[in-house]
Amino acid sequence: MLTSSWGALVVTEPGHIKIEQRTELAPNSTEILVKPAAVGVCGTDLEIIDGTIDPNYVNYPVSIGHEWSGTVVSDPSGTFPPGTSIVVEGIVPCWNCQPCHAGNTNVCSNYDEIGFTRDGGASEYVLIPSHQAHRITSGLSLEAATLIEPGAVVYRGLMRTSPIPAARVLIIGDGTIALLSAHLMSLWSPTEIVMLGMSAEQAELARLAGVTRFETNPQTAGGAFDLVVEASGSVQAVPHALKAVHRGGKVLFLGLPPHGATVPLAVDDVVNNDLTLVGSFSYTSDAWTSVVKLFNTGVFHPEFLITHRFPLENWERALEVLRVRKGPRGKVLLLP
Ligand SMILES: [Zn+2]
Ligand SMILES: [Zn+2]
Repeated sequence: MLTSSWGALVVTEPGHIKIEQRTELAPNSTEILVKPAAVGVCGTDLEIIDGTIDPNYVNYPVSIGHEWSGTVVSDPSGTFPPGTSIVVEGIVPCWNCQPCHAGNTNVCSNYDEIGFTRDGGASEYVLIPSHQAHRITSGLSLEAATLIEPGAVVYRGLMRTSPIPAARVLIIGDGTIALLSAHLMSLWSPTEIVMLGMSAEQAELARLAGVTRFETNPQTAGGAFDLVVEASGSVQAVPHALKAVHRGGKVLFLGLPPHGATVPLAVDDVVNNDLTLVGSFSYTSDAWTSVVKLFNTGVFHPEFLITHRFPLENWERALEVLRVRKGPRGKVLLLP
């Protein structure tokens, strides 16, 4: 039981965000009290703050933070001793609906997600359902562990394309999801990973992620790729993605364009070129578990991606960096 006063970064309603002082948190027998260590912020947080997110996916007021790690303060069930390093799986599956029974917890019929419909990690303390906690090997970076969430998003998407070894891969975009796509694609030893980015300033981060060639011009990026990952969220990229993929190849859509944005589609090309077009939403519980394992064994080591760190009270500066990219930018962290 926590009774002293502590701060949480709360979006009280669309367009209004502030540090709120709170008191009292006591976990019941199915909850854990966690002290967040690091919280990644991303474009989705901006949508929650601005109110541009689909209202079905958020409950205001809410403290943001869905990419986060921390240490256990108290766990009444005794599973996690105080001080245990954990990451917190965001989507809370109901385990009762048909999609959950089929393992598709990402499309659970009773949507509930930490940092969206219930308080997230941008806070000095948070209560979480105990089954959302995953243990992190002690000594591993809790800052790097924040990237398990976007890593799970990417991993789940890649798994849906049934990746093959020695593939030629094009990744469109140069943000966190694009860079993590390159990093995780190395699990399948691709012969080439080309990144078609927006800004040459991201080239060094791309190299660290395992990109073999960084381009900003679609003409020089080349074609005949086995897999194209669209991670820019721009509909303008879609025609290029369909042109750059080899006959028989796959296009994975991970980027999220503005709601309702459309593109013309030459359906005959999709048929004649034997294309597989795959969309992937968020992550399943299975994908999360796999990425935690990859992290704990050092196979997934995304710390290279962290470029900005701010104390929680400097949240305004963090959001500024997120809104306007100046210089190389990987993951922006808040440190409660
Ligand atoms: Zn995010
Ligand atoms: Zn469900």
